[in-house]
Amino acid sequence: MKLKSERYDKRFHPETLALGYAYEPSLSEGAIKPPVFLTSTFEFSSAEKGKQFFSAAYGLEAMPHGEAMGLIYSRLNNPNLEIYETRVAAWEEMEKAAVFSSGMAAISTTIMALLRPGDVILSTAPVYGGTHFLFEHILPELGIKTVFVPAGHLAHEAMAAAAKEHPGKVRMLYVEAPANPSLALSDIEGCARLAAQLSTPDRKVYTAVDNTFLGPLFQHPVHFGADIILYSATKFLGGHSDLVAGVAISDAATIAAIATYRTILGSMTHPFTAWLLTRSLETVSVRMRRQATTAQKLAELLVEHPRVRSVTYPSLFPPNSPQGRLYRKQTTGHGSLIAFEVDGDEEDAFRVLDRFEVFRLAVSLGGTESLVEHPMRMTHADVPPEQLDRHGVTESMLRVSVGLEHTNDLRRDLQQALEVLG
Ligand SMILES: *Cc1c(COP(=O)(O)O)cnc(C)c1O
Repeated sequence: MKLKSERYDKRFHPETLALGYAYEPSLSEGAIKPPVFLTSTFEFSSAEKGKQFFSAAYGLEAMPHGEAMGLIYSRLNNPNLEIYETRVAAWEEMEKAAVFSSGMAAISTTIMALLRPGDVILSTAPVYGGTHFLFEHILPELGIKTVFVPAGHLAHEAMAAAAKEHPGKVRMLYVEAPANPSLALSDIEGCARLAAQLSTPDRKVYTAVDNTFLGPLFQHPVHFGADIILYSATKFLGGHSDLVAGVAISDAATIAAIATYRTILGSMTHPFTAWLLTRSLETVSVRMRRQATTAQKLAELLVEHPRVRSVTYPSLFPPNSPQGRLYRKQTTGHGSLIAFEVDGDEEDAFRVLDRFEVFRLAVSLGGTESLVEHPMRMTHADVPPEQLDRHGVTESMLRVSVGLEHTNDLRRDLQQALEVLG
């Protein structure tokens, strides 16, 4: 595809690439912004070209030397998807990306593409509720077993112990860092090192990281050896709570394998959603930094509040604790999700939830508006409460996602909502 602009290359920072990389205005009447390519199919310039594109798409024969792959049909490729994929892969400092209809589509298609019956996943816990359902209820029916280990600085050691129980079977280490919703950090480098030890020349063990909470700004898993980065682009990447999408990012060969499954399962995103994501990538740095600054102030307020029992927020981990050290080593920022426990039970937590005026009572995160939810009874309702309790997710825990409202309005809202506890 000839969409690449010569004026932009990877010497530029991702914020700059997000404004122009992989799009050539002169091919679209000089439009500064890419048009939305609302078309299901693309015309071939000759029958020979059509033959070549299909051969390349199905991996039968590479394109003749020096010739670019062409567009075929929007389930296989589309300019809006390709522009976004090129920019988001550059941001993650990896070769290729594939954009999906949802975060769950990215996660499930990746696993279907790379794992086979008999394979074992070692995963941190807790994980996102939908991921938990996939691992616990759907993958076992396909013969893929998941062993959960507690998220935290010792997760890779627990994974090493679990791997001994399943010799030759482990195919993927799955890391959600920070964990949803407990915000515990696991050591990506430790996991990647274990994956390298478990890999053999003909059987690679992948380290996959769900980077939804801190990426692409504050955590770069590839710097610590991760192979595959997964996103719910519904969250910070989309950033406006107006779309559902997902991304997988990796080396070219791995994305080619994943993209083949995406083509056949039909889990790609829509051109307009890819266009919205491309627009959102232009502001992701500004949004995430501002949201994190506000979240830091709110976390400090919560720590001081007499009716708040505990606050989990990465920059508040004691500096010399294992979590504090991992926070400094692995991340460059604290993000804008805060988990805190009110001083009371589920009923008290619900009374606080029902009082918020500026924070909206809704699941999801990473959007421009601030949201608050109750993980145990909402996003993680499928996970047995005892299991959640073990990961520090209690009936009194609320999770907030801080948006772009004025800090003082959010501060006042938190205070007035907590007043219901007396
Ligand atoms: C929301 C979320 C997902 C699922 O993404 P969807 O876009 O809703 O399918 C996966 N992982 C994490 C950490 C999430 O927050």
